[in-house]
Amino acid sequence: MHKSEKPIVILGPMESESAWLIQQLENPTFTDIGAYRYAKGTIGGCPVVVCRCYIGVVNSAVAAALAIERYDPLCVIVQGTSGAHDPALHQGDIVLGERTVNIGRWFTPHRDWGTGVDADRWEPHGSEIVSIGPGEETMYLYGDKRILRVAEDVPNPIGKVIRGTIGAADIWNRELDMLDRLHRELCTECEEMEGFGVMQVCAQLNIPCADIRIISNSEWHEGEDFNEKYGEDCQKFVLEVVRRLIAQKTLL
Ligand code: SAH
Repeated sequence: MHKSEKPIVILGPMESESAWLIQQLENPTFTDIGAYRYAKGTIGGCPVVVCRCYIGVVNSAVAAALAIERYDPLCVIVQGTSGAHDPALHQGDIVLGERTVNIGRWFTPHRDWGTGVDADRWEPHGSEIVSIGPGEETMYLYGDKRILRVAEDVPNPIGKVIRGTIGAADIWNRELDMLDRLHRELCTECEEMEGFGVMQVCAQLNIPCADIRIISNSEWHEGEDFNEKYGEDCQKFVLEVVRRLIAQKTLL
């Protein structure tokens, strides 16, 4: 059993991506910082904080920064639902974020008034947007290797578990050509709206971080429209990751 007083922080954007985990906490107490509510309790006697961080890059980044300032955590895990970029993925599959990339960073070529919009000609913006300190520019933010190593052994009863690249931005893409382009050019397996912001805050503040996502929708397959029930399946998977991190003293 790990002895650290420092908690593991878990973020889930929506009620359907956080409420189940909060219910699993032993002896929870609640702290509100503005709209952000932090539930602190224990799992197997060790401190864990769960926050419903709300949807989007800004909300989740702020919720992560406040949690880091208040709780000085061992690590932050951001988790929840996502949409498939890779046609090989289906609802219920889990993607462990080896890397997370901002998929909202476009630079558009000039077009004259009245000539319309052509997203095919947009180019990814420079990597300085993801600066993590002076001179340290990177396009990809990397998930903590120790957390990923533990997570890849956790069984997923409803699908596969793969490592890969997760794209995030305040956008929900449903155009197959765009999903295909992001998959080919940036190697993204899936997309969501928080991981990149949380990973960037954690990189800046030197806190280990991992993004763990379940596929809740795929435009590539008939009948795989968004279904929030997968939010609970993701939380169950993440709880087992956390139990193992604690039991194996992985982060100490
Ligand atoms: N309100 C919408 C769904 C939530 S909005 C509805 O009821 O239909 C998007 C949230 O789901 C974000 O927190 C994001 O991380 C996640 N998400 C799931 N699939 C997504 C996708 N295909 N693209 C972007 N975000 C997705």
